[in-house]
Amino acid sequence: MTSDSALRKTVKLNSGYEMPMLGLGTWTLSNDVAEESAYFAIKNGYRLIDTARYYGNEIGVGRGVRRAIDEGIVSREEIFVTSKIMPGDYQRPDAAIDDSMARLGLGYIDLMLIHQPGRGDEEVYKALERGVRAGKIRSIGISNYYTSDDFERICRIAEIVPAVVQNENHIFYQNKELQEYLRQYGTVVESWYPLGGRGNTQEIFHNETIRKIAERHEKTPAQIVLRWHLQDGYIAIPGSGNQAHIVENIDIFDFALSKEEMQEICALNMRRRFENW
Ligand code: NAP
Repeated sequence: MTSDSALRKTVKLNSGYEMPMLGLGTWTLSNDVAEESAYFAIKNGYRLIDTARYYGNEIGVGRGVRRAIDEGIVSREEIFVTSKIMPGDYQRPDAAIDDSMARLGLGYIDLMLIHQPGRGDEEVYKALERGVRAGKIRSIGISNYYTSDDFERICRIAEIVPAVVQNENHIFYQNKELQEYLRQYGTVVESWYPLGGRGNTQEIFHNETIRKIAERHEKTPAQIVLRWHLQDGYIAIPGSGNQAHIVENIDIFDFALSKEEMQEICALNMRRRFENW
């Protein structure tokens, strides 16, 4: 737990690459909105963008990132883009990697994940490893693997240990046990639904503990929750197509939650998931 206001903004992955701890999620955004949001986010300090084949917006994300690069706002090296192979492609993972690369048009993919467990996922992982060796992908990982057994199943066939596990993770469903287990591998947990996900955010934003802490720091509930993710060692990718929210969500580096506040938020865990995949 870090209560230092000079919180690190990146984490060094076991692959050797630095990954930003706060990024933009793009699920449900159309190509056009994803393009504008990715570009706007980068212009406002974001360096991590999360997409997936399944979201159908890799083209838009690629366009937004390339626009920011073309305008000299960032270099390719400064930007970290994640994509994922979806179950429909588990029988053709090498081609799926090439397809994602072509849609993004960024030369390489910083992090590529298996979107969820499924038939053939071990072969998919091997394809990701081939992608790393071929210089197409820098870091690889898995998503929606919740237990140490799930993780070990992939590790048994892996030559490259997963760098990231991206899971549903929020104040009501905290992946603490998995996070502690993964420490021995240097694998980091990344939170999807960091704000609870579309349709669920109000329950989190109106939580009494979160509201009290937000008032104390003169921050919004979203900012308190995101700060909690980062201070607890999670990477967070709040999804938004709203520019005011995109700016708000990265404005969390000028305050710190105290040890007591962190403990209060950790105590809100009720092992309650919003999804079942
Ligand atoms: P989320 O980030 O928990 O919540 C997104 C919702 O919060 C949207 O309705 C958004 O609306 C709203 N919001 C964002 N910032 C806000 C703010 N400051 N104040 C008030 N409302 C705010 O859920 P998510 O986007 O579904 O998840 C995050 C990302 O994780 C996704 O975008 C995706 O990249 C990834 N993901 C991965 C998986 C997986 O299986 N690997 C599954 C789900 C998601 P506005 O657009 O109006 O801001």
